[in-house]
Amino acid sequence: MKIEEADIAVVGAGGGGAVLALALAQKGMKTIVLERAAGPPQGLRGEILQPNGQRVLDQLGLLHKLPADSTRAVRLFHFCRVGGERLCTVDYGDLPTPYNRAVVTLPNVAHHAILDAIQAEPSVSLWYGASFTDLLRENGRVVGLTAKKGDDEVTVKANVVVGADGAFSKVREALQIPADLHLYPQGYLIAIVEAPTPITEAKYFVGTRTILGMFPAAGNKVYLFYMIDAGSYDRIKAEGIPALQRAWTAISPSDETLFQALTDWNQTAFMPTGRVRTPTWVADGAVLIGDAAHGMNPHASQGRMQAMVDAMALADLLPECLAANDVSADRLKQFERARRPQVTMLQQLADEQVLFWNTANPVIAFLRDRVFRTLDRNARLRYRVLSTTAGLRSRPPFGPIDRLMAAGFLPDPSAHERVAQDAE
Ligand SMILES: Cc1cc2nc3c(=O)[nH]c(=O)nc-3n(C[C@H](O)[C@H](O)[C@H](O)COP(=O)(O)OP(=O)(O)OC[C@H]3O[C@@H](n4cnc5c(N)ncnc54)[C@H](O)[C@@H]3O)c2cc1C
Repeated sequence: MKIEEADIAVVGAGGGGAVLALALAQKGMKTIVLERAAGPPQGLRGEILQPNGQRVLDQLGLLHKLPADSTRAVRLFHFCRVGGERLCTVDYGDLPTPYNRAVVTLPNVAHHAILDAIQAEPSVSLWYGASFTDLLRENGRVVGLTAKKGDDEVTVKANVVVGADGAFSKVREALQIPADLHLYPQGYLIAIVEAPTPITEAKYFVGTRTILGMFPAAGNKVYLFYMIDAGSYDRIKAEGIPALQRAWTAISPSDETLFQALTDWNQTAFMPTGRVRTPTWVADGAVLIGDAAHGMNPHASQGRMQAMVDAMALADLLPECLAANDVSADRLKQFERARRPQVTMLQQLADEQVLFWNTANPVIAFLRDRVFRTLDRNARLRYRVLSTTAGLRSRPPFGPIDRLMAAGFLPDPSAHERVAQDAE
């Protein structure tokens, strides 16, 4: 059996693992990254880089290297009722510069840029087609892992093993960390189409058990995110593209010609949604990051961003732990303590959004629309929501009094005070 050695072994080169490997390489740490896929991902994924994710890419020196013909900055997001009535408009331009926009990229563009940068780093070995099989332990502490790389069994000795292997993490399982893994009953049919006329602003339609998001991407491309029941993708495909176009046109009649640009199911993919909660993210010699530790519903628009922010926080801590020769769970817990408040808040917020946005109940939908209308008039509360989605807040956007104000049951004397410093 082959034996390799590294400072850090990372399992998974997804949103979190790839950023961690690059950040560690930039600190000169010898890192081995195992990725079970045969190469960089090629599939369709909707990708919105929120301001906190832009900041991470900037810190890694990559934000300005993303190809201009693959990215689009979007400022305005209009929330609308099914049928077309505008409820509320959120303007990313209200956020502090320079990350005062959302950046919509073509599929995998940011991820490929990170993977390319890793390949150029001499201190990182990125192994595609390598699957984690088990942990190595000595005196109860994790000291490495075993993997299958092609037909070979490989042993990697490392000071710390990082499980960045997604919601169904095998590293988490091997660490015997229990996980509450919840699969939501609804997922998303994602499509990418070529708009007949350029679109620069995003729209997000909500109804009763209906959600359709339309996000402009580079060129004239537009992403469509359509909520469907998990398990119904094949049935929808069997019903045919015209039936889907009719359903979308009923949601947004003015976009009928855009929907006609869907001509092939190859332009679509289904993405399931899940949430992971775990009692701890650390063990002696091991850490979980990203979805392995805390997957969340995509309503927060932060799953991938939080995996990236985890990676940056951990990359700051690991060199200190290695220098002090202390990779105990106690020491690594510093990472979890720093990251848990924001992650927990976002998971809770996303679940509230599931309750109100995905609802089939007309009374709950009525309340939701009322909150959107209040937000449209109330700059203070609107900014709270925006800065949370942008990844700039760790505290919940609303306290109990704010909730009453948002629902229109109490007046807000500060409704026009937008506090940009309110973030964090
Ligand atoms: C519909 C939908 C929309 C979303 N929209 C957004 C959004 O707008 N913004 C956002 O920030 N996030 C969004 N997300 C969430 C985002 O995709 C995830 O949160 C993010 O990818 C998590 O990163 P990760 O590195 O933890 O896991 P992943 O990206 O899942 O990476 C895990 C990696 O580990 C590898 N792996 C797994 N097991 C093994 C093994 N045994 N050995 C070796 N490798 C292994 C996998 O191949 C994969 O490459 C969305 C998710 C969905 C479903």
